[in-house]
Amino acid sequence: MQGASPSRPYRLRLPRARRLRSLKFSAGWAAHTLAHEAFHLRGFQDEGVTECYALQNTAYVAERLGVPTRQAEVIQAWLYNRGYPNEPAEYQSSQCHDGGTLDLRPQQSRFP
Ligand SMILES: [Zn+2]
Repeated sequence: MQGASPSRPYRLRLPRARRLRSLKFSAGWAAHTLAHEAFHLRGFQDEGVTECYALQNTAYVAERLGVPTRQAEVIQAWLYNRGYPNEPAEYQSSQCHDGGTLDLRPQQSRFP
């Protein structure tokens, strides 16, 4: 029928999905920022080292803040694959990869 609006459930579904994605994204960055600053507090001053360690602990922090495990892992992977390459150069390190000198879990093949 011409001019018919989408059914109510359809109209409600999309904004809710967008809102949840946005919340997850915000929670991910919040967890990551907390992890980053925590490493500074532990004495790490170099931004590249600090950021790499934070990237490997974002899922851990997100979980402690209440994000479900699988989502926390997805957020961490997204930050490393999509966010990290766009960060300023001083926040990046050529050793921030699986097997690199900044790999906190060298015995694992999964990174971060
Ligand atoms: Zn910093």
